[in-house]
Amino acid sequence: MVLLDRSTLMVVFAVMTLTMLVLFYFDTYRKSRAPFAGWWCGAVASFFLAAVFYFMGEVQEVAWAPSVGNGVMVLGSGCVWAGTRSLAGRRNRPWLLGIPATAAVAIDVAVRHTDNAPIGSIVLLALMGMAIGLASVELWRERAESWHLVRSLAVATAGCAAYYLSRTVGLAVLGPADPLFQVLFGTGVTLLMAMVLLVVVSSSITSLNYARRTEDLQELAYRDGLTGLLNRGEFMHQAHRRLRANLAAGVDTAIVMADLDRFKAVNDRFGHDAGDGVIRAFAEACRSAVRDADLVGRYGGEEFALLLDGVDAEEAVRIADRINAALAEKSSLPQGVDAPTASFGVVDARDRNAGLQRLLREADRALYDAKAAGRNRAVIGFTGAGTQAG
Ligand code: GH3
Ligand code: MG
Ligand code: MG
Repeated sequence: MVLLDRSTLMVVFAVMTLTMLVLFYFDTYRKSRAPFAGWWCGAVASFFLAAVFYFMGEVQEVAWAPSVGNGVMVLGSGCVWAGTRSLAGRRNRPWLLGIPATAAVAIDVAVRHTDNAPIGSIVLLALMGMAIGLASVELWRERAESWHLVRSLAVATAGCAAYYLSRTVGLAVLGPADPLFQVLFGTGVTLLMAMVLLVVVSSSITSLNYARRTEDLQELAYRDGLTGLLNRGEFMHQAHRRLRANLAAGVDTAIVMADLDRFKAVNDRFGHDAGDGVIRAFAEACRSAVRDADLVGRYGGEEFALLLDGVDAEEAVRIADRINAALAEKSSLPQGVDAPTASFGVVDARDRNAGLQRLLREADRALYDAKAAGRNRAVIGFTGAGTQAG
């Protein structure tokens, strides 16, 4: 068994945490300003400070330093927990972390020079184990897209929490001088454990940050900024694939083009911002009227394209009706704006060996017919049959 020199390990731990803090702060936190990365900076900074206090106590024999070190360690573990909460979008109250940290200091100061000295360490370990255990629970509950990264963080924190809690029990049952305790839970092993945790968590959080930023950028690339609907390029891309798959599987598919009626007048009367609000309300009405799997895209200014799965032309006309009815409810419209209507052109893709571009052209022609016939209606393309909507 290699005996690890405590003070050397403390210096290594301090240098390592400081390096990690600087790297993580500039490379990850500054670039994203993500709250969970901020909390992790707080945790690493606390661990660094704790290492300095422990070193002062160990080497320079400063009496109060180890007790303050305990408090700062508890604070750091609390930051780990707060970070996982912010990852899940939950709110934190930073001042609450001060309570267990102060308790850890006070208890350690009270018992350090008595026969009950191990109680200070037991309290420290129990609080750290609890905070990191809660962080792990928080991570297991998280159902993020980058779940494999979150899962590896959950495993690392669970292992660490289990170690600290076992060390608490070991200290209470065996006492600090017991040889078995020294082998399993001595300061050297504990510091090594903390270093492994620091490396695993820092690299996972960096990857997670990167994954989240990539997801955000993808959202920006695929979605329309005003409505959150698919943008034209992404709608075309997805609709093309969906149409091919549906035609091959013999699934009914309707393509719909929609355009708000007399929208210029809305802009002229109520202003451009109110016009934007109406466009958003129309997007919301579309979303509420179709199923999640259907595709809805903003095709142009106030023009929209829809691909409806398992729906024939007649059913698509009923859906267009529902969209106009949802829009008429006004609840999502800007205040004072009259409920607008929309016109729709519908085509049935079934039995038609036409590509997406051609179907959209036919739907657009039907939409033009709907406008010409007086607006606020849906017209089915190709057959020439018109159906009143609204
Ligand atoms: P019609 O019933 O024939 O469709 O009449 P319309 O007035 O709606 O005519 P058209 O579809 O040509 O109107 C398009 C208008 O939509 C012109 C443009 O000012 C407005 N528009 C386009 N994009 C936006 C946008 O992002 N925000 C706002 N507020 N207005 C937009
Ligand atoms: Mg229009
Ligand atoms: Mg238009």
